Amino acid sequence: MTRTPLIAGNWKMYLNRAEAVRLAAAVAAASDGVTDREVIIAPAFTALAAVAEAVRGTAVKVAAQNVAWEKEGAFTGEVSPLMLLDAGAEMVIIGHSERRHVLGEDNAMISRRLRAALQHGLLPILCVGETLAEREAGSTFSVVEEQLAQGLVDVTAAQMDSVAIAYEPVWAIGTGKTASNEQAQDVHAFIRAVLSRFYEKTLAERVRILYGGSVKPENVDSLMAQPDIDGVLVGGASLNAKAFARIIHFQ
Ligand code: PEP
Repeated sequence: MTRTPLIAGNWKMYLNRAEAVRLAAAVAAASDGVTDREVIIAPAFTALAAVAEAVRGTAVKVAAQNVAWEKEGAFTGEVSPLMLLDAGAEMVIIGHSERRHVLGEDNAMISRRLRAALQHGLLPILCVGETLAEREAGSTFSVVEEQLAQGLVDVTAAQMDSVAIAYEPVWAIGTGKTASNEQAQDVHAFIRAVLSRFYEKTLAERVRILYGGSVKPENVDSLMAQPDIDGVLVGGASLNAKAFARIIHFQ
């Protein structure tokens, strides 16, 4: 089973429009001619449309960092799936650990967002991962399974072909600490086994599972060499054109 690697940059709450367009152009240049892997960048909402315009016709696609569960309405501060599509986004990150642990989003909210994304044709990247306390308590697998079970409520097998999962141990995000290749591979294999149980094996074999947590040029090659790691979700290093270019060209 070959899964096309997915390299995603999460720009978080950084870069104004001009800076975002400049970085997007550099990512597009670095991705020129790349056909054996997909490259995605996720700017802040304010830069989405400008970045989508800047990468139009290139190998780079654009993702949003979150999505509302309704297509419109009285939801101050939220951005609807239709608005994201209108701005040029094709994918969306859902359930990022900063949304869960800093902004208080729970599994129920995350599942609503994910179903809305699917309903409107935005491809979701569902993030899961344990905190340090949960890892130390030996509950990594149960936490991740619960996040998958609740996050994927009512998602059909046919819809699963549009979903990517990102395993992002919270203790490795923005901390400079990366999960070891073995720690990451173990959880990725577990996630695939859970998906086989929830759906079926051949479907689970098709789903892309990305690793996120202090991915850098120095560790991307060995992470991507793991059999169940199908891509990376990159925060800090995706803000540096040279570092992200090296990550795109992992070997
Ligand atoms: C992220 O934002 O999803 C992330 C993994 O950040 P970092 O690469 O900085 O750890």
